[in-house]
Amino acid sequence: MMAGAEYDVIVVGAGFGGPVAARECAQAGLSTLLLERASTPGQKVISSCTIPFYGFLFGPEWIRNGEPPIERPISGIRNIFIRDGKTYRVDNSFRVPAPLGPRIAIGYTVYCRPFCTWLAERAVEAGAELRTSTAAVDVIKEGGAVRGVITDGGEELRCRILIDAEGVQNLVATRAGIRKPYRPEVIELCLLYDFEMGKEDIDRVCGYNLEYFWAMPEEGMIAPLGRGSAVYIFPYRESIHMTIGQFLKADDGEVLNVKLLDRYYEKFFQTDRWRDLYEPRVKLRARIWDTCPIYAGLYPDQRNMPTFGEGILLLGDAAGLEAAAIADGVPTAWFSAQIAAQTAIESLRAGDTSASFLSRYDRRLREHPLITALISDPHRRDLAQAAKSGDEAEMRRRVNRGWGIRLMGHLAPPVMRAVYREIRRDARVVKSWLDMFNRYWRLYA
Ligand SMILES: Cc1cc2nc3c(=O)[nH]c(=O)nc-3n(C[C@H](O)[C@H](O)[C@H](O)COP(=O)(O)OP(=O)(O)OC[C@H]3O[C@@H](n4cnc5c(N)ncnc54)[C@H](O)[C@@H]3O)c2cc1C
Repeated sequence: MMAGAEYDVIVVGAGFGGPVAARECAQAGLSTLLLERASTPGQKVISSCTIPFYGFLFGPEWIRNGEPPIERPISGIRNIFIRDGKTYRVDNSFRVPAPLGPRIAIGYTVYCRPFCTWLAERAVEAGAELRTSTAAVDVIKEGGAVRGVITDGGEELRCRILIDAEGVQNLVATRAGIRKPYRPEVIELCLLYDFEMGKEDIDRVCGYNLEYFWAMPEEGMIAPLGRGSAVYIFPYRESIHMTIGQFLKADDGEVLNVKLLDRYYEKFFQTDRWRDLYEPRVKLRARIWDTCPIYAGLYPDQRNMPTFGEGILLLGDAAGLEAAAIADGVPTAWFSAQIAAQTAIESLRAGDTSASFLSRYDRRLREHPLITALISDPHRRDLAQAAKSGDEAEMRRRVNRGWGIRLMGHLAPPVMRAVYREIRRDARVVKSWLDMFNRYWRLYA
């Protein structure tokens, strides 16, 4: 084993959460190392996603006030139902009304690699060291406390606090002995298609909307809910991205054949909307597989695993903070990264890295106005049950509640709590929010 350098903080993972934690620690004057197994930050995260507005509003100020590489503002969600292979109805749609939308957006689509690279560059600017192409394969433990990592190159890197931001994989957390791997029932395997499409065509077909396609299980076209997700189409600057997901194992114990995803796509590509509006205008660029622990929050045993231990804090997906309700994990990765950094700074200043000191991290996660609401909202499970019942009216009601205009019913109270908390801290934040929407609109244009 080669002895390497020693740091105050090592952050494992330069996805969405790791660079945020690394930047905050480095900014506070701590010697900080950010480790990433891929050759660039964000390379091993999903290729692209939509980051909801509340991540930007209530997450790090330097992201809000910065110029991150966003792709396209999103100001609406279109729900499209499929019956007998035909898209027959667009309803329940959620939209920020003109003239506010699309300038006031409900989220921004981004490609992960440039976005996470931008985040990591901000961490490096603040003084963090970034090491790419380096995986943590084990942890160093002394007297039950985590004191660093061992890399795939056999190097021992020591630290006073380890921040685990490794995403869904959970290798570090399991090696540290504080979490069990996710159960396959909570992990969704996604098959993503990335297509080039001209901006004018995107403007005409998608506008500033995400498109969600829903079908009853008998269509055999979309993973029956409860076993996977609907088809999502997300527009970018000059491309669109689509996803269908499926659990590694169904709730009833059945292990599903992942080849099914190809069959769902084959059928989806036959629908009228795809054939008439998309197919003539797109060119396939990439086909990507990825996994996300999307339902962790719906199972108390998965949700309630520890988020800290002796000398270690877990954030984002590694801590089970994927938002089960709406399949968004970036905002909670950012919120938890900030709280983890704040806790690490306090702990190092106090010279106490014990689990009992670090337990304040878990308490703060639970006290956050949005995190628990986002990860434990049951509406996806309700959707799954509606699909199983075969009652289309019930399913539409559930789609409306989860993705339609009634989304505000359950999202509004925690968002309002977060607004209240921020304004109480400093009312000038409202101006910074409005400036952000304007600046991001200009960045896009
Ligand atoms: C298909 C799909 C679609 C999604 N869509 C959305 C969406 O639209 N909106 C949204 O908000 N969220 C979405 N998510 C969820 C979101 O991507 C995650 O919740 C978010 O990336 C979590 O951030 P993180 O920092 O915890 O982990 P990640 O962003 O996954 O980062 C983990 C990083 O750690 C690195 N790493 C892992 N193990 C090691 C190791 N041992 N040593 C060194 N480095 C390591 C990885 O390479 C990676 O860079 C989606 C996820 C998937 C899979």
